[in-house]
Amino acid sequence: MSRPPLLHRRFTPLADSLPHLRLGRPPTPVRELTGLTSTVPVWCKDESGYGAGGWGGNKIRKLEWILPDARRQGTRTLLTVGGLGTNWGLAAALYGREQGLSTAIALIDQPIDEHVRAQLVRLRRSGAALHRTHTKRRTIASAPWLFLRHATGGRLPYFLPPGGSTPVGTLGYVEAAFELADQIASGELPEPSHVVTAVGSGGTAAGLALGLRLAGVHSRVVGVVVNDTLRLDAPAVVALAGRTERLLRERGADFPPARLTVDDVTVVRDWLGPGYGHATLEAERARALAAATASLELEPVYTAKALAALLAMADDGRLGPGPVLFLNTYGPR
Ligand SMILES: *Cc1c(COP(=O)(O)O)cnc(C)c1O
Repeated sequence: MSRPPLLHRRFTPLADSLPHLRLGRPPTPVRELTGLTSTVPVWCKDESGYGAGGWGGNKIRKLEWILPDARRQGTRTLLTVGGLGTNWGLAAALYGREQGLSTAIALIDQPIDEHVRAQLVRLRRSGAALHRTHTKRRTIASAPWLFLRHATGGRLPYFLPPGGSTPVGTLGYVEAAFELADQIASGELPEPSHVVTAVGSGGTAAGLALGLRLAGVHSRVVGVVVNDTLRLDAPAVVALAGRTERLLRERGADFPPARLTVDDVTVVRDWLGPGYGHATLEAERARALAAATASLELEPVYTAKALAALLAMADDGRLGPGPVLFLNTYGPR
């Protein structure tokens, strides 16, 4: 038997109202990364191994809440959207399949490099129905057709926005924040002054911000925007955290208002480069440095840009004396 999620233990009514499906083995490890920078101590919470199929990353924690919610609604198909190299779409397809759900994905163009090409091969093998809709505009225009095309048994598919960043999906990182709070309390790592994560659709940053607040941890979430196709600023992240807080309350959790405001999170855009999926020199350097000094495997779209931001912000004093926590959201296959 797997352990119940911390959210169910903390807010007991949720055990009945918000089903959870354990897909990974918590807690994910934390370790200090030495050799990246001498300006602040850098720690890492490593989500790369979180998942059943030998690979993981941050999308698995979202699916732990999304898949049982979809099943409870009686859906047999997930419909979602992503870039050509979507980690999210692949995770939904593979983990959904194990739950008897099929997945359809509208794919939006992104620069094609080796990483994306390999990902496309995995997507094709996943059994997901792939629709190359190319642009956001054409995806929206084909939405009615996509919904009807993938209706099964008289039911429309369960729609998931890019990255699975619904309030239900965001619970995955509320849970991860609770887990981190326990690791801090047990002395596995010091309380970080900042927690740095990539922002691709915002669920990870929003869930962390809400969860850390609810757990009484004072770390400030720093979100590094890597996606220019969605609105991802501090108000958007805080709004998603607010919708997630409302969901918890609607489902029976009782707690004082979190009162998160835009001043509680830092969202930076300076490491995006020319756009989503476009390589940057800073990210390539950060990726090489992480591999060489910390045996940490990053990818160019999200985590390398997030680490590049962390290093630059540490250097110019914006992260204070630290310690800083880097969330490794990438689960290599
Ligand atoms: C999706 C993804 C992110 C971004 O998480 P969001 O919750 O979508 O902001 C970060 N890193 C990796 C590797 C991802 O695949």
